Amino acid sequence: MKAYACTQSKGRTHAEQEHAFRSAFSRDRDRVVHSSAFRRLEFKTQVFVYFENDYYRTRLTHTIEVSQIARTLSAQLGLNEDLAEAIALAHDIGHPPYGHAGEQALDGFSADCGGFNHNIQGLRICDRLERKYRNFRGLNLSWEVREGFAKHGSGRSHMPEEFVNSGTQPSLEAQIVDLSDGIAYNAHDLDDGLVGGLLHWEDVLTIPVVAAVMAEKGLESIGDPDVRRAELVRGLIDRFVTDALNETRQKIASSAVQSADDARNQIDPLATLSNRADSDLVQLKVFLREHLYLHPQVVRMTEKAGRTLTRMAEALLCNPRQLSPVWFELGEEDGFRRAITDYLASLTDKSAIEVYAQLFDPAARINRT
Ligand code: MG
Repeated sequence: MKAYACTQSKGRTHAEQEHAFRSAFSRDRDRVVHSSAFRRLEFKTQVFVYFENDYYRTRLTHTIEVSQIARTLSAQLGLNEDLAEAIALAHDIGHPPYGHAGEQALDGFSADCGGFNHNIQGLRICDRLERKYRNFRGLNLSWEVREGFAKHGSGRSHMPEEFVNSGTQPSLEAQIVDLSDGIAYNAHDLDDGLVGGLLHWEDVLTIPVVAAVMAEKGLESIGDPDVRRAELVRGLIDRFVTDALNETRQKIASSAVQSADDARNQIDPLATLSNRADSDLVQLKVFLREHLYLHPQVVRMTEKAGRTLTRMAEALLCNPRQLSPVWFELGEEDGFRRAITDYLASLTDKSAIEVYAQLFDPAARINRT
């Protein structure tokens, strides 16, 4: 590992003995994989509600794709692969059901008690909500994995005190995960959109980077649309990952960082795409926003789903005794508005549909809370 990699942890909230043969960060990765929140990623989606089509990425498969890209980049750059993997596997666990609409609904409901942000929720799951250890609440993850949530994009405006004076940037490993996240979702949303029939080839071919990959790899002549699509997605990921690697390597060299903390104290992140590739990715993002995320079918589905979360939240607040004992006790400790927000955020797209029926359909069976 290079000098700017995170080799040592700054520690855990609750002191623990080091493991005989696993590093702190590989333990973190395993804790994330064994957490309840991680398993629920299987039935949460980013763009499509989970049952629409079983081809689409779920948050779980998205997470695995991000982790693979982050590991590739980390290994090439001499960073700590275990840490990058732990951060990548954890990066989406704070997402509520129903993607952005779910997040907005919970943010509105919890506005009086601090609002809702998926990065901060990820931290709250790791620090407080998971119940796996007899001596403490949460997973007691290392400072470095927790830093990944606290300093990630939208989480920054709610950054907990302990991270405020630890540099403007997160570790290079966390920066790599952030970059990998963007590469992964833009490529796979394009794939899912084409498969779902919400995106059309003639429109997709107008995206400059798509046209470039198609031409460079001679994909136009491939008759089988599934193979053409797979070749395109592979070509896009490879192009962005290669660019990220070259650009980040150069930035690390020219900044002359000598330690993990040096990398944290840079004004701008060192892990980035080149300007050219960045503008390619932005164009792809803009295209996906207009043609996919704002597609009436997607918006209607997620808006409808988001409204049900608000109704559920209000109904539970009317009488919190509807909560199971674990969530009720949390409400007594942290306030019911916060506990209800935590409870609803923990649901998957799938279980939220069941709970909605339990709360509003007198004939629905109540077999799980
Ligand atoms: Mg993500």
